Amino acid sequence: MNLVLMGLPGAGKGTQAEKIVDKYGIPHISTGDMFRAAIKEGTELGLQAKSFMDQGALVPDEVTIGIVRERLSKEDCEKGYLLDGFPRTVAQAEALEEITSSLNRKINYVINIDVDQEILMERLTGRRICKACGSTYHLVFNPPAKEGVCDRCGGELYQRADDNAETVENRLQVNIAQTKPLLDFYETKGYLRNFNGQQDINKVFADLDELLAGLQ
Ligand code: AMP
Repeated sequence: MNLVLMGLPGAGKGTQAEKIVDKYGIPHISTGDMFRAAIKEGTELGLQAKSFMDQGALVPDEVTIGIVRERLSKEDCEKGYLLDGFPRTVAQAEALEEITSSLNRKINYVINIDVDQEILMERLTGRRICKACGSTYHLVFNPPAKEGVCDRCGGELYQRADDNAETVENRLQVNIAQTKPLLDFYETKGYLRNFNGQQDINKVFADLDELLAGLQ
């Protein structure tokens, strides 16, 4: 089950990733999470990534491709993997083709979760994330039982700095421009599968799961 998960910010990628990983036990490989962990630990990789991330810019391809290559070659990816946040550029997508071929872990599907822009705006500005475990909530659509507290682990909920209204609009435009060539790339390869992300969370997963069950 070798998967790439795509979708604009707020499309529900994190939520669906959690469900896929819970059900199928494949590792969730998020380059953003890997960079954030490296920054927290103060490693060399963290130092390299920090200045780019702080500006909202992409970390250079050679750094990002390197960490993905290393991560995908680990034993826990033998039964599959779920890539999230990578690839972000066509150069990364091409590198990923080479990496997955050489490891004999070729991509089965690129799952794209589709949601209209106006809905994404609404979703993003209400998003809250657990500091401790990374679970995501929404003030209106998926609130925690107790305000500001994670249902899963009791951790404190926060709003990502880039989820405020002023930057969300810009983030979406940048993401749309970045994503389009990737969707075209994977459409041509025949990996792309589009899902309607405007449905109930469980319905989106049921649709996805129908596809994934075929890989079992
Ligand atoms: P994310 O959590 O996926 O939104 O990623 C947060 C930040 O990490 C991005 O704004 C980039 O600076 C960096 N990053 C994550 N994934 C990549 C990637 N595939 N290529 C380059 N930079 C990335």
